[in-house]
This record gives sequence, C-alpha cells and structure tokens, in this order.
Amino acid sequence: MSSFHDWIDSFSCPDCRSGFSFTAVNSGASNSSDIASGTLSAHDEAARYGLLQCRCFRYPVVDGVPILLKGNVGLLDQGGTFESKGPPVEQIVALIEQGRCPEALVRCLGFTPRFKALDKLPGWRLWHSDAVLEFGRKRVEARLRAMLDGDRQKLSAEDWFEFYFGGPTASDPNHLPYYRNRVVLPRTLAAFSLLRLLPAADKPILDLACGYGPFAHYLTQRRNSTPVIGMDFNFYLVWGQRYWIAPEAVFICADGNKRLPFADDSLAGVFCSDAFMYLKDKPGVLAESDRCAPGTPIILSRVGNKSASPKEVRGDSHSAEGYMELFASHEPRIFSEYALVRGYLARRNPLTLAPTDPADLRWDKWLHFVLNGESLQNVEVGPALEWPHQVGKLCFNPMFEREVNNGGKVRLDLKFPTTWFAYQNGDMYGYHGDLVECSADAAERARAGQIDPEVQSLLDRFVVIGLPERYLKAQD
Ligand SMILES: [Zn+2]
Repeated sequence: MSSFHDWIDSFSCPDCRSGFSFTAVNSGASNSSDIASGTLSAHDEAARYGLLQCRCFRYPVVDGVPILLKGNVGLLDQGGTFESKGPPVEQIVALIEQGRCPEALVRCLGFTPRFKALDKLPGWRLWHSDAVLEFGRKRVEARLRAMLDGDRQKLSAEDWFEFYFGGPTASDPNHLPYYRNRVVLPRTLAAFSLLRLLPAADKPILDLACGYGPFAHYLTQRRNSTPVIGMDFNFYLVWGQRYWIAPEAVFICADGNKRLPFADDSLAGVFCSDAFMYLKDKPGVLAESDRCAPGTPIILSRVGNKSASPKEVRGDSHSAEGYMELFASHEPRIFSEYALVRGYLARRNPLTLAPTDPADLRWDKWLHFVLNGESLQNVEVGPALEWPHQVGKLCFNPMFEREVNNGGKVRLDLKFPTTWFAYQNGDMYGYHGDLVECSADAAERARAGQIDPEVQSLLDRFVVIGLPERYLKAQD
C-alpha cells in the first residue's frame, strides 16, 4: 500500500504555497487487523494520523489521507452544494491532537441522512428540526463505528457504496447501482481509450476530482504501471479509494477550485473525468495544470456540452466550440464519447483519427478532450497492449444476473438496474451481448491464467472483467 509520504515533498499549501512538515500522532486505533494481515507496514501505521504544518496552517492527516482544506471537511458535495456538511477542520485537528484518532475518522466519514419519507408526513418542521437531524447522524456514526471496529479486511468497496447510498442517505440512491457497475460503462471505456496512451512516468499523474473512480486502479495495476495521486473534495471518496479500490495510489482531500496543492513541475500529467464542467474557474484550473505539469498531456474526459440535452444540474457551461476556444493554446483535440468507445473496441489510438470539427458535436452530450497530446500520437494500441477492462482481479461482470443451471453451466443475463441507467448506457448492448451461457468456473479459470477460447471470448465480450481486488463482496 502506498502512503502520502511517497510524495510529501511535492505537496504545497494551497494558500501560503510553502511545503509541509509532518508530525505523526499515535492513532490509538483498537483495530490492527490491517497491520496483522500485512496490508499496512508499521511505517504506514505511524503515518496514518498526524498534522501537516505549513507557514499558515495545520492540516490534519486522517487514516492516511491529508485533508488540505480550511473550513469544513468535504462531504457529499454535488456540483457545489452541500447535501450534508462535514465537520470543521479545526475540530478534526483538535481530536487528533488529543489522540482521539478513530473518532476523527468517524466524524470525517459520517453524514446527516435525509429521510425523504418523512417529508410527506404532517409536521415537516418537526422532522427537520436539529434534534431529528442530530439523531440521524448519531445512528449513521454508530453504524460506522461497528464497520470500522470489525475486521476491515472483510469489507469491500461495495459495502461502502451500500453504506453511503443504499440505506438512509444524504445523497442520491441511484449512485448505488452506478458505482457498482461503472467499471465498463461506455464513459469508462472512453476514458480508458485515452488513459492507456499515457506512458509510465517517474512523477505521479493527478486524477483530479477522482471520486470513487476506477482510473487510479487501472494506472497503478497495469503492466506499465505509473504513480497516481487522486484528489477529491469529498473525504469519504478518497478514503474509500485508498483502502478498497486503488491501494497503490496516494490520495488527498482538497478543493479543485483552489490553487492545486502541489509544487511547480511536480506532476507527469493531469486527468479529470466527469467533473471538469463542475469546476468553477476553468482557466484557473488550466493555469494550475500548466504550473504543476508544464507541457504534459491533460485529459479531460466526459465534459458536459451546453448545447446538447438533457441539461445536467449546473456546470454545463460551454459548447464544443466554447471549450475548443478555452483550450486554444494547448493543442486541443476533441472527441465524441461514441468515437472513443468504438476506438477502444477496435484497439485504435484515437489521436491518429482525423480531427473532429467541434460543430459536428453540437448534439453530443458528452465531450472528451486531450490537450498537449502530441507526444501520445505515436503510441501503438495493438493486441500486445493489455485491455484496460481486463486489468485487475478477473470476475464475472456484476451487470449480469447469474443463474447456475444443472450441469455446471452458468447463465448470464445483462440487466440494467434502472431505466435511467439503461438510457445513459444503452450502448453497452453493442459490446456485451445480453444472454450468455458458460462454464460456472470460467472466472476462476481466467484468474488462474487459463485463457482458453471460452475464457478469451468472455473477456472480449465484457462478461468477465478486471476489478480492484476488494471491489465487490465475495463472488463465486
Ligand atoms: Zn499554508
């Protein structure tokens, strides 16, 4: 498992711009199963909690994640509005100073649930009183303590998706099927088709507004692995990625709308998926990329197009032409999501295609951009280069419902969890196939490296896919 110590010399305060000195605090955690199992070294353990001091502030490090924010710890923030406010950073610093580290973690991960059903009952004001909200939060914190006090080795990313979106939630319950199934969605393949062009580097790639994304996992686990720093405003997302999705990447909690918390020329490139449209000062983000990663490729994947419908909530601030103008000094290339998915499937380097006229993308909801991409034009994307969707632990794709027949065969049926999901991702039918029958042990054989024709065809049809080691709850 990587630690923020690997890159601490690259960090700088978003406000005073100085570097940091770190003071570790004994975590006082009762749970040492991660150490016993060897996932964490004693060094990591010593560095899991503490304070980062710059010239202007002391920032907390909570369970291995530096929180480089002032004000409140980021929590469940969608497009700029708080759905549930995180605790004040000063409160977290005080808890860490007192050695109450597990409590600091619970505060950072807890949220205040919305009880939608209660909205319909008489007495709306009562149900939204501070006492009721406080009661909801206490129950969430109790569930959290129970999860964190148990054996963390037995938990998966899926358990955390359920925790945040499956029960009482402060967010959108539609996130649950989305997160579980996002690893081979069209949008993900489009991003992979660009990411796989990035060479291995000595400096880290920044995954800006990384969320629970699968990209740090891919970049750190592929054959020509390369270091990644994932950054997001929401603490629970970066913490979740660190332990359950991409333990070989480093994660920090910081605000993409501020100066980036990195020294000049300390990054090998910047990647941002499904979030650039939400960042308020877009020229500022570009200038910050230029400062931290001068001249390197910038990949902006899945940016909302203002001229196409449906309108997303907030954020779709430019049309295709508008974005090309904004990026004019960075040799921009623009792609439709459709073209990138087709290029992914055909194993083609999208930069070798003739440039698309932005006017032709007027009705494309999702746009993808490569800036400063000249050095990537000659990357060979042949059969010798592994397919990103096959990197990781090979498992049956959770999008398929599985039913074991008599005789050791398993029948897999592609099921979209909701109509909205099907509408957004209908393109999947093209490359998945919808009804498949195969041997029940096919995923097991794939994991053992027995790539016979049946396994190869399941890999090629996205029936068996690579996932982070601890993504799903145990499956057969
Ligand atoms: Zn500072």
